[in-house]
Amino acid sequence: MALTDLEIAQATEMEPIEKVAAKINISKDALERYGKYKAKIGFDTLNALKDEDDGKLILVTAINPTKAGEGKSTTTVGLGDALNLLNKKTMIALREPSLGPVFGLKGGAAGGGYAQVVPMEDINLHFTGDMHAITTANNLLSAMIDNHMYQGNELNLDPERITFKRCLDMNDRTLRRVDIGKGARVNGIEREDGFNITVASEIMAALCLAEDLMDLKKRFGQMLIGYSKDGKPVYVKDLKCEGAMAMVMKDAILPNLVQTLEHNPVLIHGGPFANIAHGCNSAIATKAALKMADYVVTEAGFGADLGAEKFLDIKCRKAGLHPSAVVIVATIRALKQHGNVAYEDLKEENVQAMLDGCANLAKHIDTIEQFGLPYIVAINQFESDTDAEIEALQNWCKENNHPMSLSQVWAKGGKGALDLAEKVIELTDQPNQFAPLYDEKDSIENKIEAIATKVYGAKGVEFSQEAKEQIEEFKQHGWDKLPVCMAKTQMSLSDDPKVMGRPEDFVITVRELRPSLGAGFVVALTGSILTMPGLPKHPSALDMDIDENNRITGLF
Ligand code: ADP
Repeated sequence: MALTDLEIAQATEMEPIEKVAAKINISKDALERYGKYKAKIGFDTLNALKDEDDGKLILVTAINPTKAGEGKSTTTVGLGDALNLLNKKTMIALREPSLGPVFGLKGGAAGGGYAQVVPMEDINLHFTGDMHAITTANNLLSAMIDNHMYQGNELNLDPERITFKRCLDMNDRTLRRVDIGKGARVNGIEREDGFNITVASEIMAALCLAEDLMDLKKRFGQMLIGYSKDGKPVYVKDLKCEGAMAMVMKDAILPNLVQTLEHNPVLIHGGPFANIAHGCNSAIATKAALKMADYVVTEAGFGADLGAEKFLDIKCRKAGLHPSAVVIVATIRALKQHGNVAYEDLKEENVQAMLDGCANLAKHIDTIEQFGLPYIVAINQFESDTDAEIEALQNWCKENNHPMSLSQVWAKGGKGALDLAEKVIELTDQPNQFAPLYDEKDSIENKIEAIATKVYGAKGVEFSQEAKEQIEEFKQHGWDKLPVCMAKTQMSLSDDPKVMGRPEDFVITVRELRPSLGAGFVVALTGSILTMPGLPKHPSALDMDIDENNRITGLF
């Protein structure tokens, strides 16, 4: 039987973190070590790198996934290892996993098979405490808001219009809506509140777009907490607690250095949801990696319609990044799903359904071309893929002139992506005309329309009455000149998760808008987006254990 991700990770002898750091010329004195295999890199070191040339940035994205994920993280890690095998000084920049999904669904968050980041248990559990710090900064603000109202409410805050929520890094659906302050007055002002999962909090999104701690403090100050009883917006800076919130984040703002199974350097830092937020690791980590390495491989959550669009339109625009190439991960099982095969039947050979499903891949390729970037399709090979299916997909790519490579990193590690790595290097040598898809100074309606028509292939956008009123209100407050962060299902190019392939003639409905002023974007919600997930009927927590020798089992 094949080894589990955890068994593969446990069988690997890690190198001390200072040895990994030496590969990118970071001295051991520059490391703030968390045990033997994890370290943070301080701002003194990062600032000293400011004049170094930037390496080349490679984004890994994907087609619309099945519910199991299509192997973006796995491909990112494997490609990074392959580039290192070709003697290219390469770093990988990934997101930090959230504990909620760890206990909920089966599926690693730091790669899989022989393309993983270690120490896998630590990364998936408490790691270096960043999630805890984010949760604390968030809940400090919540406590300050409620205390302010209890202590006289000088800002005249309306308890029914507090938009900022508490958070917890756990899948716990019962906390989506909670009544707080119940009982005697001494328990505080009674009102309805709710919890987001920590990775869906604005604190996380702000961290991931911040330049440094002072910029993060400024972003915290700009965050909206709600409205006064006479309808005026109230910000964190009115409550004067951005300083304490930033203080809590003093270590969490530093990127975390770890290694792949092949001992190559990886920065794992920040992990915002790809629906309500922008879904990529911190700008601090990506920029640091670009200074330390010649090639940086990074990923953005979900398919190219969500993750890549936001990476390119929000993160790259705001952090001044210029990517050199894009890898679009496709799996035969997800293509079959786009050819309308049921999830349970995806392991059965079905060449025609797969070819039908290629329409979805073609749309994502078209999107990346619109951003002016060179791309390659990486076919992430699964054991269940048949020779006939692989050949048909390779032929489809050839016939349509799409650069392509069969990637076997899950089974073989870096060796499984040498061809992909060589082709990626060639792509990065080409000049490109990267530009975001819309002008951020355009109206909110036009920005959303640009994304819906150019990226999703929709014929137009419908705004609910509520959304229309919010757009007017946002204009008055001067919140309309920010990039838009679309919240949409990851399963489909449309806003209906059941619609597979490449839908045509559809309209995107924008229900509601939310200002995320600390992050620096406006969220546009299409369909119902959950910011606090629940656990499934059989949570993976039921299969996890630890023994007297500290040996963990069942963590993927
Ligand atoms: P994504 O980043 O797209 O969500 P991941 O890389 O996290 O996907 O992979 C999701 C899960 O699928 C992981 O458990 C990983 O081990 C598994 N996986 C990825 N690629 C393969 C493959 N080629 N064969 C088998 N399992 C795979």
